[in-house]
Amino acid sequence: MPIEQPHDFEALVAQYPRAIMIATKEPRITYVNHMFHTITGYQSDEVVGKTPSVLSSGLHTPEFYREMWQSLANGERWEGLIWNRKKNGEDYPQWLSIYAMEDKGQQVYVGMFMDMGERGGADERLASLAYYDPLTELPNRSLFKEFLNARVSRRSRGDTCFAVLFVNLDFFKAVNSLHGHERGDGVLKQAASCIQSVVGKDDIVARLSGDEFAVIVELQEYDMLHELCERLIQAFRAPVIVGDRECFISASAGAAVYPVHGEIGTELLQNADRAMHMAKLAGRSCYRIYSEADDEKGRREHELSEALTVSLKTASDEFHVVYQPQYDLCSGQIVGVEALLRWQHPEFGAVSPGDFIPLAERRGQIHEITYQLVRGIMADLREAPPPLQGQYGLAINISARQITDARLGVAIGPLFDRIRELGWRPEIEITETHVMNLSDQSLEILRAFQEQGVGIAIDDFGTGYSSLAYLQNLPVQVLKIDRQFISCLGGQGGGSQIVTAILGIAEALGLEVVAEGVETQEQYQELCELRCQRGQGFLMARPQRWQQLQGMISDPYRNSTA
Ligand code: C2E
Ligand code: MG
Ligand code: MG
Repeated sequence: MPIEQPHDFEALVAQYPRAIMIATKEPRITYVNHMFHTITGYQSDEVVGKTPSVLSSGLHTPEFYREMWQSLANGERWEGLIWNRKKNGEDYPQWLSIYAMEDKGQQVYVGMFMDMGERGGADERLASLAYYDPLTELPNRSLFKEFLNARVSRRSRGDTCFAVLFVNLDFFKAVNSLHGHERGDGVLKQAASCIQSVVGKDDIVARLSGDEFAVIVELQEYDMLHELCERLIQAFRAPVIVGDRECFISASAGAAVYPVHGEIGTELLQNADRAMHMAKLAGRSCYRIYSEADDEKGRREHELSEALTVSLKTASDEFHVVYQPQYDLCSGQIVGVEALLRWQHPEFGAVSPGDFIPLAERRGQIHEITYQLVRGIMADLREAPPPLQGQYGLAINISARQITDARLGVAIGPLFDRIRELGWRPEIEITETHVMNLSDQSLEILRAFQEQGVGIAIDDFGTGYSSLAYLQNLPVQVLKIDRQFISCLGGQGGGSQIVTAILGIAEALGLEVVAEGVETQEQYQELCELRCQRGQGFLMARPQRWQQLQGMISDPYRNSTA
């Protein structure tokens, strides 16, 4: 049946499920529909004839309204999120579209809006799938951005500020693949409630995509942020029940505070995301607040990591090996050398192994590192060193993660054969912090190396938490005392207690000791007095190329204070 005009159109507008308001250019309100009353609480006769600013929350800045009117004056439609105030004084977010129209020769403005914060009005809200995530019923990325822009354009009240949180679940992919997508969906819903239970009722929680959530949190003071993030991380640690199962999940979060970490929405969200990545790097299930220094560090690490991947694949000539001699402290004779890898990048220059080894470990490239090391040493050992008396050690550093890698034996086997051929002894150094976490399988492999005559040393000893019971059963012959303890020696005020204690432990367990990082005559002297057998350090020799080492290998170090 055709609609009769104009009466039926009026009824249609009056009953339309979105609020409609018409205003003149002055501006004065001339019409509001039924939904307008439902949302705002104002009856038609309370607002008709008044200016639309009666609805204003006072939260937006004058520039915000100026820009809105400007775009309408240019004949454009204005659409966006705006905070207005209901009759009962409550501020609420509304999605507002304003069109300019001609009515009886007069310019009028038609505003249509819906309440975006209304959780009860599901029909209307869920109908707008463009703005909400159907699974969690939270605002989606587009709506979150609108909320954020509207929040940035709001006036600040007193000292209050706000922060953007970026929350990402840890290992969510594993939940999906282990328990199926249905449970995965359940976990996401629980995650949404978990975040909502921690933040304030007026804070905006959104699901950006997959397992990424974001929040706009109002802060009475900056210090609240740490406490809030801590509660958020803790809340995720509790097991969640999905269906009939208990799932353990955790989340990492990053926060950026307005305006110190960004003055516009996109910048705040991006910096919160970066901070979240820092939390992931720090081991997950924790939070980080954005810091420019961390960001700079993260960016450099990322660039270095990319460069390392390329260099390991295509530029072997950027890697070479240097050797640092180890001395018998009593006689001053060289008793062995430690091989250390060097990376010379055309853009980054000389990159320290302290920087690139951890990157390679994180990216699963440590095998490629060992491969470069072995390649470099094999090339150097093509020339045999001058004949020497006694047995010399040639030590390489091995990452604990690599011990069970089947490729390790294949890579270092020929190297160790060559070292033995020269009459030297192969050695492996493993950092103490990692030694304590070795699996039974790793220990078996180390034992097998030991049986083949390979020396095994614990590197950087004193920095980890070795238990004596554990040490006693390790297939190890040497402890290398970390250089931070050696640096305490040789002064006026003592500082030798830890070194003395380590020497005592080594003696009790029948292990040899090497002091790392000997830099002064006084340290050398004190080590001799403490009867430490071996030492290595810049005082005696810096790490150097094989050709230079050849020239000095048979010269003893003469300690001038000895
Ligand atoms: P590390 O095994 O404890 O090696 C000793 C580090 O101390 C070397 O640093 C060496 O140059 C430095 N050093 C030696 N004497 C002194 C001194 O008197 N004073 C000071 N300040 N430093 C001294 P480098 O070559 O930068 O290596 C750092 C760490 O990187 C090594 O510590 C080792 O854990 C790792 N690394 C080096 N090369 C390799 C490698 O080929 N593979 C693996 N997995 N790790 C490696
Ligand atoms: Mg070492
Ligand atoms: Mg060391």
